[in-house]
Amino acid sequence: MASKHHSAPNAPAAPVAVTRAGTVALIGRPNVGKSTLLNALLGERIAITSHHAQTTRDRIAGILTTGGVQYVFLDTPGFHRARHKLGEHMNEVARAAAAECDVAVFMTEPETRNTPEGLSVNPTVREDDRAILAAIPEKTPVVLLLNKVDKIKLKQVLFPLLEAYGKVRDVAAIVPVSALKGDGLKAILTEVGKVLPAGDALFDSEELSDKPVRFFVGEFVREQILRRTRQEVPHGIAVTVESFDENAKLVRISVTVHVAKESHKGIIIGDGGKMLSAVGRAARLRAEELLGRKVHLETFVRATPGWFDDAARLADMGYVDETPTKRKRAGKTRPAKTKAAARTAR
Ligand code: GDP
Ligand code: MG
Repeated sequence: MASKHHSAPNAPAAPVAVTRAGTVALIGRPNVGKSTLLNALLGERIAITSHHAQTTRDRIAGILTTGGVQYVFLDTPGFHRARHKLGEHMNEVARAAAAECDVAVFMTEPETRNTPEGLSVNPTVREDDRAILAAIPEKTPVVLLLNKVDKIKLKQVLFPLLEAYGKVRDVAAIVPVSALKGDGLKAILTEVGKVLPAGDALFDSEELSDKPVRFFVGEFVREQILRRTRQEVPHGIAVTVESFDENAKLVRISVTVHVAKESHKGIIIGDGGKMLSAVGRAARLRAEELLGRKVHLETFVRATPGWFDDAARLADMGYVDETPTKRKRAGKTRPAKTKAAARTAR
């Protein structure tokens, strides 16, 4: 085991052996900033984010190994009132993560209102937050985050709300943070690290996710569409990766964008194909960032009516219930910056 006392004074620092490790579920309503926080903690934008609720559909593990601790963060879809089978699947993913994690990071955001005396913060706990907190088993340690505090200049207006949340259940810590600005990240790691179980690493320390790279490429395409569309279009989009072929210089990827209605095809393709090519270009740049290699990305658009309420189609598209996080699974996503990128999984 690596130990400071046995290394020569000028030798490069040996990696600290992992002594604490476990799964850390990011739990909360849609749009409170769970995926933004995952990306901030990892320093890599793997989880897609948008201003639309229900952007995240899958449980995505983001792995961070630092200071002798391995955090397996589980980004989850926000709990919401499901209206179709996809929504039910998303709630089930969130519920399972809350039930099975070693530590729950519960996120919420303050509700603010402009008053003649300045910005005021609603000091009461939201009912839907109470319900979500109740889904976390009693024995699971909870670190409670109040996110988006960058929106509030005078932090003391938050105190009554922090106090109210502290009374709902026993929590290991309450931390005001800004996932967007990266404020409070160190405090999160410290507080979560304290309550993670002692044990060996679950994944290799340079691993970034339990999902293969091809999954993220599909997600990057979906993210670009979400950011450019409104109303019912974004919720009816699914992206499947049809092929992923690589050689030493280039990765060739072909994806299909499924839309819920024939009339949405034109919206996604845009005038003279402008929209689809802008989506493809932006998604390709993100894929190149993650893979550390040139990417050739082909996108097709297809109407698949009702896919989100059809169990068989959902399974085809990869929306299937996950097996619990396995130990040391080989060949998962690694950051492009490490030399391991050459062995990145598909
Ligand atoms: P999720 O549904 O909980 O995963 O939320 P996302 O991470 O997708 O974020 C939803 C929206 O909130 C996006 O538009 C983010 O940019 C925004 N957001 C997330 N964190 C913060 C924050 O700390 N401050 C502010 N002002 N906005 C944030
Ligand atoms: Mg999300």
